[in-house]
Amino acid sequence: MPKAAILTIGTELLLGKIVDTNGAYLGEVLSFAGFDVAIRLSIGDHRGEIRRWIQDLLDEVDLIVTTGGLGPTKDDLTRQEVAEALGVPLVFHEELLREIEAIFASRGFHMTENNRRQAYLPEGAQAISNPVGTAPAFFCKTDTGRMIICLPGVPRELKYLTEKKVLSMLREEFHLGGRVKRTRVLKICGLGESGVDQQIGDLMKTEGNPFVGVLASPGMIRVLITAEGEGETEVREKIAGVEKEIRRRLGKLIFGVDDQTLEGVVAERLSNMKAGLLIKDGATGGELARRLLKEARGSYRLEGAIDFSGKGRIDEKETESIYLEVVEMPEKTEEGLGVFEITLKRDGEEKRSKLRLGGPREMVETRLAIIAIDQLRKWLEG
Ligand code: ATP
Repeated sequence: MPKAAILTIGTELLLGKIVDTNGAYLGEVLSFAGFDVAIRLSIGDHRGEIRRWIQDLLDEVDLIVTTGGLGPTKDDLTRQEVAEALGVPLVFHEELLREIEAIFASRGFHMTENNRRQAYLPEGAQAISNPVGTAPAFFCKTDTGRMIICLPGVPRELKYLTEKKVLSMLREEFHLGGRVKRTRVLKICGLGESGVDQQIGDLMKTEGNPFVGVLASPGMIRVLITAEGEGETEVREKIAGVEKEIRRRLGKLIFGVDDQTLEGVVAERLSNMKAGLLIKDGATGGELARRLLKEARGSYRLEGAIDFSGKGRIDEKETESIYLEVVEMPEKTEEGLGVFEITLKRDGEEKRSKLRLGGPREMVETRLAIIAIDQLRKWLEG
């Protein structure tokens, strides 16, 4: 598999002012396309720095993709630095300037003199025209057959160019047709990271083909099965073998796969049943409603009461819908722990469960909301 490096450029990334979503996005699409993404790096807008990293990475990988630093201002250094890394001058492209002028004109903007900078590219580079922004992207090939692709920092422009132009170019250049790498995500609720480890620890490997990894977040665990091979069928079969074994061991704890969300799975079930859902939330700070409403897509009616009276009682309407209640119990516990009760009711049937949770309040609210939704899921699944 060809090796790739992702270099996201911009001092604001280092200062934590923006999150590097471009890096995450490129990591996903490049590995999906068949690259072994070997390194991902964020660097500031400093003279000499971009050049130095590009030179170092060219010894390690077949492809470098950069984002950012293509704008018209002095701190947009990518063009200049790539040229220096390759030991070539910047060359003015009349046709690029015309393109930039046309984009400005079509938006009713006046093009300033510094936009001329964007019509310069390292000698030998080819422009990738950018109809959704003003900064033209470009790519260059080195004498040793390596490739550098420089894309804009604006996420919308980056995605547009990657999907419309860059991926097809890469498939051709690196003959990516055959070999593929895929990840299947199994999503689990109701078991912590160590519990998952106990059940499937022997299947987990950080290397190999396929390999299995685990990602934990509050209330949910994701098991990632990654495999590579010649073509989709081979990879699918490799993943399916491991998935079957994991499902045998974890069963209903797995609520969904890939992009499925717990709320989405529950919402789908409820809408298939044509059932309404009444919720009473005295403990998750609105997290329960927020998660479920996101999936209701307009087909909801929200009525609620917030009890500031201290009396601890709010009138509640009885209906035929499914009823989900989460409350904090007034029970005494050790420092930092709370006792919560989740109640589910339907057609005279009722299920109550108690649990103790501790930690920062926000985390408790998230975990509690997820646990409540997961209990509803299991209840609906019988
Ligand atoms: P432009 O000419 O449109 O400014 P550019 O290529 O010079 O494009 P930057 O100026 O580096 O890009 O970034 C433009 C904006 O894109 C930033 O203000 C930021 O909001 C966003 N951005 C840049 N890099 C990233 C990144 N790695 N992840 C997410 N957002 C980013």
